[in-house]
Amino acid sequence: MGRAFVYVILGGGVAAGYAALEFVKRGVSQGELCIISEEPVAPYERPALSKGFLLPEAPARLPAFHTCVGANGERLTPKWYKEHGIELVLGTRVKSADVKRKTLLTVAGETISYKILIIATGARALKLEEFGVSGSDAENVCYLRDLADANRLVNVMQSCTGGNAVVIGGGYIGMECAASLVINKINVTMVFPEAHCMGRLFTSKIANFYEDYYRSKGVNFIKGTVLSSFDFDSNGKVTAVNLRDGSKLSTDMVVVGIGIRPNTGLFEGQLTLEKGGIKVNGRLQSSNSSVYAIGDVAAFPVKLFGETRRLEHVDSARKSARHVVATIVEPEKTGEFDYLPFFYSRVFSLSWQFYGDNVGDVVYYGDMSGGAFGAYWVSKGQLVGSFLEGGTKEEYEAIAKATKLKPEVEDLSELERQGLGFAVAV
Ligand code: FAD
Ligand code: NDP
Repeated sequence: MGRAFVYVILGGGVAAGYAALEFVKRGVSQGELCIISEEPVAPYERPALSKGFLLPEAPARLPAFHTCVGANGERLTPKWYKEHGIELVLGTRVKSADVKRKTLLTVAGETISYKILIIATGARALKLEEFGVSGSDAENVCYLRDLADANRLVNVMQSCTGGNAVVIGGGYIGMECAASLVINKINVTMVFPEAHCMGRLFTSKIANFYEDYYRSKGVNFIKGTVLSSFDFDSNGKVTAVNLRDGSKLSTDMVVVGIGIRPNTGLFEGQLTLEKGGIKVNGRLQSSNSSVYAIGDVAAFPVKLFGETRRLEHVDSARKSARHVVATIVEPEKTGEFDYLPFFYSRVFSLSWQFYGDNVGDVVYYGDMSGGAFGAYWVSKGQLVGSFLEGGTKEEYEAIAKATKLKPEVEDLSELERQGLGFAVAV
């Protein structure tokens, strides 16, 4: 049993949705394109799962956040894929791939062959078991990667109103879920190993601002330690979290956000890997010329930094998806992928954006007592990174543009004095 397509996108997440729209814009024919996804629904904007989806009132629900609404694009419902002759193979996991034969084998036993494969398998959440702690299967321990996880989190949250939650991990999931739990009237304690939240991006000064804000909303922080075990009741529900520092936290639920691993397993030994992802060139093409990779799973050359990076953010998924389709359909008209890294988050009434790289000296500006504030990173005499909390659309555009241009910075104190004005004037 088998089917054959010109193009197959493996994975049905953010990157797949944006690639499908680009294929249609560039004129894919009926029956040429197939998307295979383990998830039972058409591609959607994953960022909604830790934000609008968790709101206690008028929460976001599908079909409202199918791709590509997150970038003000068309909303692609299953009907849209049908109308454009795109085969959506949902609820189907691919269990093996053979890049020499150009075939994929699904768990249902179907062989799907391709001329060109785009790998968009994203990543999976790391489990506590990988750090030697058991209990991930308990009914009140929640992870958050896909829609099924989000539905589960909502159900557990609704059964805990007025109660306590422990959030493990001080990264994106930890920070966004902690805010959502508070909004759902749950008392939150965050536990993470670093000295401050968002350790890989924020400086301690920036992190202090957000931690103080969270404290003002009642969040308690326990830093510099990790979970060592859970206590369970007779039904297998977690009742307390034991920390390595010897303390015990009684809890009604646990949310875990301790990082991800890219889904590369099907291609190990077949394609070159780097930085935990599938290594691709500036055309997003892997070590096999018929196979491309985009989104969280791809390690691609970031021209601006002159090195290969793997980025776990939605803007990179969207733009690499558009680029890969352009490069496949119109190779002679399409240059190399030239991407400016962009990360953002929204929590409570706060909202920040970051562009570029967080290396070198840091210069702060603005009002950290509640107004807009920001920071620049300067390395080897050039602006390489920009952060802004509470900016306007125009201000965010200005820091993005300035960071992309990497202007020279001779005097850090002058940069501090000019603040946001520096980016606006570039
Ligand atoms: P994914 O969207 O993860 O899609 C991968 C797809 O591949 C999934 O559908 C998966 O089921 C499927 N798949 C994997 N293996 C197989 C297989 N063997 N067979 C079939 N199907 C398979 N980024 C931001 O920049 N800003 C945000 O605010 C933000 N919020 C986020 C909130 C949450 C809760 C999460 C989990 C992530 C968030 N991100 C955010 C990150 C962003 O969502 C990812 O960078 C983006 O989804 C990556 O897109 P992708 O298509 O590469 O992977
Ligand atoms: P992150 O990598 O952002 O953060 C993981 C956090 O968990 C880090 O603080 C990490 O510390 C900590 N940690 C690692 N191991 C342990 C442990 N054993 N016990 C306690 N803490 C631990 O990953 P997330 O899980 O938060 O997010 C998953 C993915 O979702 C990421 O790709 C992220 O980009 C994406 N996402 C993005 C959002 C956004 O861009 N706004 C929003 C939500 C998710 P250390 O750094 O020391 O390893």
